[in-house]
Amino acid sequence: MFMPVGTAAAVKGLTQEALESLGAKIILANTYHLYLRPGHGLIRKLGGLHQFMSWNGAILTDSGGYQVFSLAELRKITDQGVRFRSHLDGSEHLLDPEKAVEVQLALGSDIAMVLDECIETPAPRSIAEAALKRTSEWARRARNYFLAQSQRDSELLQWQFGIVQGATFADLRQASARQLLEIDFPGYAVGGLAVGEPHEVTCEMTEAVTALLPHERPRYLMGVGRPEQIPDYVARGIDMMDCVLPTRAARHACIYTSEGRVLIKNSRYIEDQRALDPNCSCAVCRRYSRAYLRHLFAAGEITAAILATFHNVHFYLDIMRQIREAISFGQLANFATELRARYAAGPA
Ligand SMILES: [Zn+2]
Repeated sequence: MFMPVGTAAAVKGLTQEALESLGAKIILANTYHLYLRPGHGLIRKLGGLHQFMSWNGAILTDSGGYQVFSLAELRKITDQGVRFRSHLDGSEHLLDPEKAVEVQLALGSDIAMVLDECIETPAPRSIAEAALKRTSEWARRARNYFLAQSQRDSELLQWQFGIVQGATFADLRQASARQLLEIDFPGYAVGGLAVGEPHEVTCEMTEAVTALLPHERPRYLMGVGRPEQIPDYVARGIDMMDCVLPTRAARHACIYTSEGRVLIKNSRYIEDQRALDPNCSCAVCRRYSRAYLRHLFAAGEITAAILATFHNVHFYLDIMRQIREAISFGQLANFATELRARYAAGPA
């Protein structure tokens, strides 16, 4: 399954009605953003994230760690946790494994992620090793804290996932997976990949890890990916993915279609009366032309981003439907080859 990203309790450009009509079953929300604004306490008071944003589908929340490491100012990492200043108002905060659990419990998401240490890649082995050690210790603390909370609250319905780290070293990745398996999570994520390394390396690292993680538990590759790469991850045993690409690209007038990428601002579409994707059955493609979308983008109309996002998210969810179908017919490899060939041609 693919999870559209709803950073601040909204998938940019889509209403919850739109997400429902697209058949989205689960979205991702960012703990860091919601913790800072409007605050997890307020969301808990208003009945939790599902009620607050009126979303009956599932929600996965990240730990907030990735944004702390990429957005926040003046961060200082110790074994305790990570101290940082908000990128909004400069206020000082401490995010540690227990706090990440607590905030996600207040949000009331269905799947919560443990806090991990994210490092810049490529990383030297010594740095990757140190981050991995800390990530495993944090995972144990997060699991213990979560289990203690769930003993106190029998109504608590949340799954907590561990996150495999280890940069681009297969043996470190496997060591990380083994340590998490010892702690025992209902699902496992693979983090710190698809951050600039070649696609082959992402695949190689993923495979090293999924070889160890149990088949009967969800395996989630965080932050991927391009449409033509998704089947490669699924082929390596990945069940879940999330990415800002379909929504972010849509806002930049990049349309993913069955024939490859369409950069809709291009002047060649001025008089093009065809749908964004002639092979797409989404509500946007059934109704609007490339010429109209191109005009909306040229005129700076917000409707442009809304329509493009709707189509792009439909396209991603449809790829997942096609992948599930291909798997059931034993045709995943063929599907992957065809999709890659269509995208190899480059942007239209
Ligand atoms: Zn469409």
